[in-house]
Amino acid sequence: MRPWPGPALRDEADELFPQGWRRAAIEAVVAGGVQPELVESLSPAERERFEAVAAERRRVAATLRERERRGEDPDPDPLPRTLSASAVIDHERCPKRFYWSVVRPLPRFSGPAARIGTEIHRWIERRASGQGRLLEPEDVPDLTLEELAGDPGRIERLREAFLASRFADRVPLAAERPFLLRFGEVTVGGRIDAIYTDRDGRWEVVDWKTGRRPSSDDPLAGLQLDVYGLACVEIWGKRAEDLTLTYVYLATGEEVSRPMGDPAAVRALIGSALDRIASGAFEPTPGPQCAYCDFRAFCEPGLAWVATQGSGLSPRPA
Ligand code: SF4
Repeated sequence: MRPWPGPALRDEADELFPQGWRRAAIEAVVAGGVQPELVESLSPAERERFEAVAAERRRVAATLRERERRGEDPDPDPLPRTLSASAVIDHERCPKRFYWSVVRPLPRFSGPAARIGTEIHRWIERRASGQGRLLEPEDVPDLTLEELAGDPGRIERLREAFLASRFADRVPLAAERPFLLRFGEVTVGGRIDAIYTDRDGRWEVVDWKTGRRPSSDDPLAGLQLDVYGLACVEIWGKRAEDLTLTYVYLATGEEVSRPMGDPAAVRALIGSALDRIASGAFEPTPGPQCAYCDFRAFCEPGLAWVATQGSGLSPRPA
């Protein structure tokens, strides 16, 4: 074992720093400055160069301290110009979670629920495109044993719920259809799970959910489908009155359908959410979303909120 901080490299020690420059730097910090004997040992030319570099470093340090004192952020976070619809909704639930997901992204935990949700969406899409015939419904998806152990048979139950739904034998007009909507300088994108049409040309926009149904008083529960409906109106020219928006909760087999609302109201809602994002305020807003937030471990407001809930937390929606 070598003492730390020793020379990181074999040749780091030299005549001036026999113990390596890292140790000398730490000793200089402890002593409050570079030891005079080190400076005195320099040649006049070296000393002149040292003084010039040190003066420049002191100037930069003073500027940074002054900015810090005035509360200026020397490097404000650039706000993204392209956002997913779900990121905008995420911001409405908790701006801090949006910040840690989009503005200064931290690693996310892709848990079993998310992986199973992705797998089910892929399976439905393969069926919709006709490739489902190549894969038997009971084929085991690419999930680890650990992921399957938590809730054995869940994948099969979700698939059976889809096969029992009124959509199982229908061919969608489109599946996993991407779109982009412009809101001033910001573009909001998304991907519609499925669009079905009837003989009268009406469209039903469907979103598959593998998690629980949100509570009826969740004001943001329908916003995702509203944005999809807006895309149908503005991109594909559908009339709002010819659109039905449907969530299918595969975990329970429930369906929740409603007509498309006023597209202008949806646009205004998303526009004001984007204004709030542009304002750059990303304060945490603890609530039920903390129960399934990847960042809770180091978010004090989130931890405090969860602590007040005891063991009565709802499971994660997807
Ligand atoms: S734990 Fe709660 S308050 Fe904290 S970032 Fe996540 S959702 Fe927001």
